[in-house]
Amino acid sequence: MFRENNQHYVRQVDRTIFFDSAVSATLEWIGFIAIAGVLWLGGTRILNQSLTFGTLSTFILFAQRLFFPLQQLAEKFTSIQSGFTAVERINDLLSQPLDIRDAKVPQSLPQSNDSRTLGEVSFKDVWFAYKGDDYVLKGLDFTIRPGEKVAIVGPTGAGKSSIIRLLCRLYETTRGSITVDGVDVKDVSQNELRRYVGVILQDGFLFAGDVKSNIALGESYDLAQIQTAAEQMNVSAFIEDLPQGYDTLLRERGTNLSAGQKQLLAFARSAIRNPRILVLDEATANLDVGTEVLIQDALERLLVNRTAIIIAHRLSTIRYVDRILVLRQGELAESGSHEELMDLNGVYANLYRLQMMGQAL
Ligand code: ADP
Repeated sequence: MFRENNQHYVRQVDRTIFFDSAVSATLEWIGFIAIAGVLWLGGTRILNQSLTFGTLSTFILFAQRLFFPLQQLAEKFTSIQSGFTAVERINDLLSQPLDIRDAKVPQSLPQSNDSRTLGEVSFKDVWFAYKGDDYVLKGLDFTIRPGEKVAIVGPTGAGKSSIIRLLCRLYETTRGSITVDGVDVKDVSQNELRRYVGVILQDGFLFAGDVKSNIALGESYDLAQIQTAAEQMNVSAFIEDLPQGYDTLLRERGTNLSAGQKQLLAFARSAIRNPRILVLDEATANLDVGTEVLIQDALERLLVNRTAIIIAHRLSTIRYVDRILVLRQGELAESGSHEELMDLNGVYANLYRLQMMGQAL
C-alpha cells in the first residue's frame, strides 16, 4: 500500500517537473523565434535604410524586457497551483461540521483559588469509542480529590491520552459523565474549561514569535508576570542569556531550543495561567542530568496547590504521586500507591520490573 502510494507520488512529481520545464522551455523558444523574426524584419529594413540600427537594438532590448516577466510568470505558475491546493485543503478543514459545541447557557466553574476544596475530577462509568462500538475506554470510574497528584500508567494504546482528551472535551464521551468540581464538562464553556484544566503535552507547540508571546500565548500578561513565571520554572537564566532576552524570536516548533528548554517554557506557559487542574503528559525524551534536575525542581513547584494528573511513561519518575491508576485495554486494572501496587504484584509491579530491567541493561 505504502509502496504503491509512494510510486504514484513519484510519478506525479515527475510529471509536474516535466510540464514545468516544458512550459519554461517553450516560452524561451518563443522568445528566441520572436527575436530572430525581429532581426530578420529589422535587418531588411536597415538594408532598405528605412530603419536605423539604434532603433532596432532598442526594440530588441524592449522585447526581451517583455518576455522576461512572462517567463517568470510561467515559472511561478506551479507555486500558485500548489498554493491553490493548500487553500482547498484549508477550506475542507474549516468546513468540517463542529461536533462539540458549548451548552446554550453554560455553567460556571468555581472561582476561588482554594486547592483544598477545589480541583476535583470525577469519571462516572465513562465509555468512549473513536468509531462505532470499538471502545477504547470501558466503564471508567474514579474520582481524583482536590489537590491530589495522580499518575496514569499503562501500556501504549491502553487509553491514557484518550482520558485526557475527554477531560478537556476534545472528544465527547460515548456514555457516562465527567465532572470537574461537580460540573459536567459538557455544561461548561470550552474556553472556561481550558483555563481551569491546563494541559502540558509532551512536545508543547512553540510558535514562530518571541519568547514572551510564546509564554503569554495571546493573553495580556505584562512582562513582570512573564518574568516571574519564567523564574519559577527555572527558565529565566536561559532566556536572559538569549541575544534579545524575552524579545528573542523562536523558530516554529522551537527548533532552535533543546528538548529540556522547550519543556521548561511549556511549564512557564502553564504556571502563568495558574490552572486548578494540571494535566501533564510526561516527556519521554532523554535529558542530561542537569536539565532533568531543573525540570523535576520546576515541576515540584508547578504542582503545588493544584490537582495534577500525570501520564507517566517512566515509572521511576512518579514515586512522589499520591496515587497511581493503572490502565489496561481501556479498563482500570489497579489503583493505589507505588508500595501498595508493588505488594499487589500485578500489572504495575510487572511493568515496573520490566522498566527497571530495561534501565539496568
Ligand atoms: P495511550 O495514550 O495509552 O497510548 P490512546 O488513548 O492514545 O492510548 O489510545 C487508545 C486506543 O485508541 C488505541 O487503540 C489507539 O489506537 C486508539 N486511538 C487513539 N487515537 C485515535 C483516533 N484519533 N482515532 C481512532 N483511534 C484512536
